[in-house]
Amino acid sequence: MTPLFDAHNHLQDERLLHRLPELLPSIRDARIRHCIVNGTCQDDWPHVMTLARRYPGLVQPSLGLHPWKIASRSQDWLEKLKCFLSLHSGTVFLGECGLDRWMKNPQFEDQREIFTLQLALAAEHDLPLSIHCLQAWGPLIEILRANQGPARGFLLHSYTGSAELVPELTELGARFSFSGYFLREHKEKTRAAFRQVPLDRLLVETDAPDMLPPDQHIEFILRDCEGHPLNHPANLPHVVRGLAHILGQDEPDLRVLLADNFRQFFGLESL
Ligand SMILES: [Zn+2]
Repeated sequence: MTPLFDAHNHLQDERLLHRLPELLPSIRDARIRHCIVNGTCQDDWPHVMTLARRYPGLVQPSLGLHPWKIASRSQDWLEKLKCFLSLHSGTVFLGECGLDRWMKNPQFEDQREIFTLQLALAAEHDLPLSIHCLQAWGPLIEILRANQGPARGFLLHSYTGSAELVPELTELGARFSFSGYFLREHKEKTRAAFRQVPLDRLLVETDAPDMLPPDQHIEFILRDCEGHPLNHPANLPHVVRGLAHILGQDEPDLRVLLADNFRQFFGLESL
């Protein structure tokens, strides 16, 4: 069976980090070969790098400043990010970063500036870039049109935009990743958008520990200390199965396609 690749998760999240040794056997049993592990703020970047050293191959590090975390940044956040990138030239990707007008108190002008700086950095080194966008598609497209992005394109993780925007975003270089949360009944509009995505631009992700799939698509149950459910990264095969059903594709064929798309976009040829 073709291995699987998680295009976006957060294994460094404090809700998962200390439990990783216990989660790893099921991740490996699920034939998950690679995870793009996304840092979101200066505090968690070192944790992502530690995981990359501890689990080489499985953990591919990506660092960025997420719109929810911009208030925590130091004055020299960009220098710090550049430092990680130059220290590990080409092997550390960019993101999670992006734009969010869904959150409370978005400080949107700051968000625009911070995202544009990270886009420029990804463009300069042609790094895979993982973008978060909620309710900010107009400004995102405006920024992508006005600025040079990475030549290889960019990933719209857990894409929640409309079906109508897919052609324009595709032309701009977008890849679209599908998460298990979209298998929930009320997400039909998002599923309709994914039916419009060109097959060579599709990826899958867990976004673990978030974006929990509905009960019937969960194999591994995980809870935080307060008993709240978490998304286990080994639920990825069920995300792929759900996506195959939505697209009317054979699951083995879809696995091959997703593996090719992952290798092509992230450039991880050797694995
Ligand atoms: Zn994320």
